[in-house]
Amino acid sequence: MIHPGERIADLFAKPVGTRLQASGWVKTRRDSKGVSFVQLSDGSCFRDLQVVIEAGVIPPETLKLATTGACVTFEGTLVESPAAGQPVELKADAMVVHGPADPAVYPLQKKGASFEFLREIAHLRMRGNTFGAVFRVRNQAAWAIHKFFQERGFLYIQTPIITASDCEGAGAMFAVSTLLGAREGLDGKPQFHLTSTDPADDFFGKPAYLTVSGQLEAETFACSMTNVYTFGPTFRAENSNSARHLAEFWMVEPEMAFCDLQGDMELAEEFLKYVIQHVLDRCAEDLEFFNKRIEPELLSTLTHVAESRFEHLTYTEAVRLLEQSGESFEFPVYWGADLQSEHERWLTEKKVGRPVILTDYPKEIKAFYMRMNDDNKTVRAMDVLAPRIGEIIGGSQREERLSRLEARIQEMGLRKEDYWWYLDLRRFGTVEHAGFGLGFERLLMYLTGMKNIRDVIPFHRAPGQAEF
Ligand code: ATP
Ligand code: MN
Repeated sequence: MIHPGERIADLFAKPVGTRLQASGWVKTRRDSKGVSFVQLSDGSCFRDLQVVIEAGVIPPETLKLATTGACVTFEGTLVESPAAGQPVELKADAMVVHGPADPAVYPLQKKGASFEFLREIAHLRMRGNTFGAVFRVRNQAAWAIHKFFQERGFLYIQTPIITASDCEGAGAMFAVSTLLGAREGLDGKPQFHLTSTDPADDFFGKPAYLTVSGQLEAETFACSMTNVYTFGPTFRAENSNSARHLAEFWMVEPEMAFCDLQGDMELAEEFLKYVIQHVLDRCAEDLEFFNKRIEPELLSTLTHVAESRFEHLTYTEAVRLLEQSGESFEFPVYWGADLQSEHERWLTEKKVGRPVILTDYPKEIKAFYMRMNDDNKTVRAMDVLAPRIGEIIGGSQREERLSRLEARIQEMGLRKEDYWWYLDLRRFGTVEHAGFGLGFERLLMYLTGMKNIRDVIPFHRAPGQAEF
């Protein structure tokens, strides 16, 4: 009786009278006089399948195993549903239990459990409405990203996860080492000890880290194969309990040769709109749920963003607007300051009312590889700020001039030797090029309205959090 091929999403489109089987996990069962109702879900769509079982059709000792969380298959006939909001339901006459779930201990019992609690049972939370919807949107967004770049001839490349160069100079990196031995301490608990303190003895013969970005490697490919993108995990040891930061997150990084900042901004805007439109088209029911339950302005802002032209401002103009705003911000604003989330949100939400691209930031607050402007004070950087979340994309035109790049590396106290291959790109066949990085989970927060980044990734990694 097991035919896992057909999913509940497909059953709704079948004509009334069709004999079929439906498999999934029980959301709820309700027994009333002479009839039982089971809400069945297999994650394939937002809607549950309502299964109707008339008394006596299925042996009571079998039917009573259809409790919340149990995995079952029903067989029966598709009939018109008298209930509102669903065209059809399954009138069942046979049932198989694959795995029961003891109601006394099944953790996902209560409706309305908090997201904090659900994070502790992240291995089960996808069975509920919210997280089913989150991960369907995540899937469609990932597909849209690949589709967008593939339709434009971008090459998908995979950059290393272990790296020996600190791309951003950010410092917040996880070391990768085999010098750290584990043994049992006297108290029986595991204990670390260093087998050597010399990086030369380590696995790679020098300090190595989990990557914070694949950009530098992506640049090597752009300088051979023109347009490329990465889409993979990145790691930052951000020691903050922030709702917008994860220690492990996914990043999308396109890199384009023969491209300047203008081209970079155009691609970023087209890209965001494309992904938003794709998700609006493919996940309508999921988004309606988020709009109703999570973020009342979700659909209106997404539709608006997909249709509106992004505003462009220079950093200098933005700082002037912030200074004149009359708002009292927690962090002071002045030329040279790194903009905080509160500033970014004021600009995009209050001042402009749609996404804003800020350009030409002071060189001091940006990475060494960004192209210097003629003023020698600002660099060709751009950040895309979106209402509700602030920075969603960070990008730049890269410094393609060898002497300028070497000067910046020196100014910032980095070691030229570490970047020999990166500098080679400027030595041999250099070209104007540009790219950006999009935090995939930030995008998902935007698409779903979910307020905590830990709720849009299957199993979150954050300070003190590495369960599952
Ligand atoms: P923020 O100021 O928000 O920490 P950032 O300036 O460190 O961001 P970039 O180095 O430009 O970010 O990284 C590119 C993109 O990656 C960001 O625009 C953001 O979408 C995302 N991002 C950065 N750090 C994190 C993180 N810890 N968790 C999830 N996404 C992140
Ligand atoms: Mn950061």
